Parts: sequence; structure tokens; C-alpha cells
Amino acid sequence: MSAAALLAVREIDTYYGQSHVLQGISIEVSRGTVVALLGRNGAGKTTALKSIMGIVPPRRGRIVFEGDEVQGWPVYRIARRGIAYVPEDRGVFPSLTVAENLSLVGAGGHPRAPWDEAAIDELFPRLRERRGTRAARLSGGEQQMLSIARALLANPRLLILDEPTAGLAPLVVGELARIFRRLKASRMSMLLVEQNYPFATDLSDRLYVIGKGRIRWEGSPRALERAATVKHTWIGV
Ligand code: ATP
Repeated sequence: MSAAALLAVREIDTYYGQSHVLQGISIEVSRGTVVALLGRNGAGKTTALKSIMGIVPPRRGRIVFEGDEVQGWPVYRIARRGIAYVPEDRGVFPSLTVAENLSLVGAGGHPRAPWDEAAIDELFPRLRERRGTRAARLSGGEQQMLSIARALLANPRLLILDEPTAGLAPLVVGELARIFRRLKASRMSMLLVEQNYPFATDLSDRLYVIGKGRIRWEGSPRALERAATVKHTWIGV
């Protein structure tokens, strides 16, 4: 494990019942970097995120976060340890307003933690305008922003996101790209699953390509650009 690793996933195997989905996957996220998992539908990307979060715990292997072996911990304990998860379905409470959704997050970290209400308002002006609106009435993009805002309020040291751009119009994807660039500039460490190839390669420092439950390739966005066979075989771009 390199000295700067924030998260190190070491050869994990994850199952759904008898189905052996992840087969010896290793992933590393260095502090202050953005890492994306790419791959075709059903490759195991979401399962990798759920394994890290403890939602579908791996049966074998290790997951080391800031020096602690967290495999086998319950989800709430992993969240409290400093990992926030934005699921693909966004997980907002539809009948609650934006403000109420945000108020459900207990203040994370110490009193000078960077992500408070003011910082959220500044990063998400759209949400500020919609504070009194029920989440069910938000657009898909606004719901995604709410989900990210809620995750940030917990002041995580690692933000995990499952397909943040899925189903969103290009204009909204552009707005999210701006938000992610700012998060990256603030040195927020992120691990994301993304089907939007240009979005993922523009944002990330490092990429992993997952195919049929194994890591098929890893490297920089520039190197992937030249790896035509990998792109064609395992990503489909
Ligand atoms: P997608 O983009 O389609 O979500 P993915 O790469 O995230 O793809 P996963 O959702 O991790 O893939 O799924 C990996 C494999 O595990 C697939 O074959 C899928 O059918 C299977 N799978 C996912 N969730 C479950 C579950 N709850 N029970 C049984 N099998 C599952």
C-alpha cells in the first residue's frame, strides 16, 4: 500500500448468495484524488462500492481506510469513520423539503469542519433557491445535488458516488461537472462509478476498468485513451 493511500481494497471477493460477483478486486484511492470505476452493465461496479460501504460485505479480502481494517463493520460505523455514500437512486426523502433533508444530517467532524450550511449554499445555488420545496418535486439533477449536499454535510474524508450523472440532461451534467471540479479543487477524495466516459475521464486522476467481476485495466485517463482494445472490450466506447 502506498504511503498516501486513503482507501486500499485488497483482493476482495463478494457474493450474492451463491453468485460469486467480485473475484479478487483491488482498488486504491490516494488522499485528495478522484478515482473512477468504469465497465459495462453488470460488471460489478456498484457491488464494489457496496462492498466498501459494508452494504454487501465481502467474504474474503481486506478493506483498509485510514489504517483501519473496516471489512465486516456495519454500514453506520463505516459512515461514521468518514466515508459518505451517494447511491444511484439518490436516497433522498421525497416527502421532506430540501431543508428538512439536509437537517437530518448530524453535524459531522469538529466545529471547524469545512462543510456547513453556508458552504453548501455557496456550492449549490439551485438548492438554496429550492429550500422549501419537497424533494419529490425537484428535477433529477436537483435531487442528485441534494444527495451530494447531504453527503458533504457529514464532512466525509472519502465521498463515494454511484453514477452521479445517470439519466441527467447534458446541461445538468455540465453543472455537476462544475461542482465536482470545485470539490476536487478543495482536495475532496472521491471514488465514483460512472457510465459517462468523458465525464469520468475529465474528472479522474486514476481509472479502473472492471469486467466480469475482475479488474481488467488500471491507469491514467491519458493511458486509457490510447488503450483501444480495453475501451472496446470492457467499456464499450
Ligand atoms: P450496472 O451499471 O448495470 O449497475 P454494475 O457494474 O454496477 O452494473 P452490479 O450492479 O455490481 O454491476 O452487478 C454485478 C452482478 O451482480 C450482475 O450480474 C448483477 O446481475 C448481479 N447482482 C447485482 N445485485 C444483485 C442482487 N441484489 N442479487 C443478486 N445478484 C445481483
